Amino acid sequence: MVNVYHDKDGNLEDLNGKIIAIIGYGNQGRAQSLNLRDNGLNVIIGNKKDEYRKIAKKDGFDTYSISEIVLMSDVLFILLPDEIMKDVYKKEIEPNLKEGKTLCFASGYNIAFNLIKPSSNINVIMIAPRMIGIGVRETFLLKKGFFSFICVHQDATGDAKKILLGLSKGVGTLMKAGIEVDMKTEAVLDMSTEQMFGPTLGRAMLTYVYTLVDAGYPPEAVLVELYMSGEMSYTFEKMANIGLIKQVDFHSQTSQYGSMSRGIRFRKIPLREKYDQILKELENGDFAKEWEGKLAKLKFRFIKFFATKQRIAKLEKKVRATLNLKDIDIYEEMPPSIEELREKEKLLAELKEFQKFYEY
Ligand code: NDP
Repeated sequence: MVNVYHDKDGNLEDLNGKIIAIIGYGNQGRAQSLNLRDNGLNVIIGNKKDEYRKIAKKDGFDTYSISEIVLMSDVLFILLPDEIMKDVYKKEIEPNLKEGKTLCFASGYNIAFNLIKPSSNINVIMIAPRMIGIGVRETFLLKKGFFSFICVHQDATGDAKKILLGLSKGVGTLMKAGIEVDMKTEAVLDMSTEQMFGPTLGRAMLTYVYTLVDAGYPPEAVLVELYMSGEMSYTFEKMANIGLIKQVDFHSQTSQYGSMSRGIRFRKIPLREKYDQILKELENGDFAKEWEGKLAKLKFRFIKFFATKQRIAKLEKKVRATLNLKDIDIYEEMPPSIEELREKEKLLAELKEFQKFYEY
């Protein structure tokens, strides 16, 4: 049985006299800082001198450089992007970290795959929201809370669990629930959704769109039907609130008969074996190793370039213009130059495969 914690399990008084530093004032950083402060806790912000730091100042927080804040605080929330966390930890956090402090992560990735190895005299805990930053703030203000995966990974001071539960209450997650899972489980689950469910859903959506558009149905109607109306996200919300099967009753009898009777035709798609393979790569650390590798970031820029140039992007642009929806271009990415790829023959061959895949 998994342990589940609620508001009554956390005590804000366990954090009396503690200075809480939030490192990184981005999506999670801003939301969690505001929630902790609204709960009366002493919060200060450490960020690079940039726009984010200005926002923190405007929000009324005292701001410092990352190395400064490590020296000043008792608890450190490390809310930096996972892929840069290791370097910032090595250069700015670790050299200033003193015995008995608490590091709190919002994702298990860096600890689970040994990219960050805090010394044994430091508490290491995790509060990993199952919610985007804006939702962390919104659900807090609405007094609904949000689910998180929480755990003590390393208890150096003997009271890490109390600190964990006090902080979980402080950020607002215990209003919903904190579910105790270890950091590796959190990381594997998180990436499983991204690497199994995400691509499967994406492929199904694209196949649906191209099938109907190629059959002569207007792209405007096809995209609105599938996702632009927001009906699908509404259905997902109902799945969460009412249940995957129960929400079916919100749809017509024709809809229910159609999807259940046709559903059986998709049973033989070999998803399970692909999912098992992906799970294995996550569990044995192969994925983390690949993403840490020298060429991965370069490969990523290329794949993203191909992916954002595929047919759906052009279709969407046209549809959004016809429907008078504002065109927000957040994907103006350039691929790396071919010079960057010289002598990387193996990668070039692999990239051709991605290019072909996304041309579909
Ligand atoms: P963001 O990308 O929103 O913000 C990260 C912050 O880190 C920004 O203030 C950014 O400032 C700063 N930063 C980026 N690069 C550097 C650098 N090289 N040196 C110093 N500071 C830097 O991150 P998220 O809030 O999305 O993610 C934080 C953590 O929360 C991660 O562990 C993530 O897995 C976890 N998480 C995120 C969720 C989400 O929905 N986003 C959900 C649940 C957990 P700047 O850009 O100016 O450099």
